[in-house]
Amino acid sequence: MAEPTGAPGLTLGISRLLGLNRADARLAAALLVVALAATALPLWRATSATAGGEIWFVVHSPSGTTRLPVERDAVYEFAGPLGTTLVEVRDGRARILDSPCPHPCRHGGWVSRPGQAAACVPNRVVLQVTGSPTGEDFDAETH
Ligand SMILES: [Zn+2]
Repeated sequence: MAEPTGAPGLTLGISRLLGLNRADARLAAALLVVALAATALPLWRATSATAGGEIWFVVHSPSGTTRLPVERDAVYEFAGPLGTTLVEVRDGRARILDSPCPHPCRHGGWVSRPGQAAACVPNRVVLQVTGSPTGEDFDAETH
């Protein structure tokens, strides 16, 4: 597990790896930290949305934000600065299927629960699982 810190070392390392300028590297580092944090987040988010709320896969890419339906198995294409990143939805899960990364890059594998995320940082494509709770906070109210 990498340490989820926004340390300058991380920014510099990414910058050197990819030859990005400083602003790009900072963005990339921020995305990476967000992805890691979301993956490693404690369960406080998962508890509220798995109880029947609607779940969406949300993909952030340079061309915008797209919501993917969970129940439809498909492969989607997202354009980034390096090329096309493929996002696969299957059996209620989603993952980054393929991406034109210059280096082998950790994409996080399958995600299916709210709060989880996967990302191809070099191509600036971030896949998130979001839940829209049905209006009630299941944590706060017990019936
Ligand atoms: Zn990648």
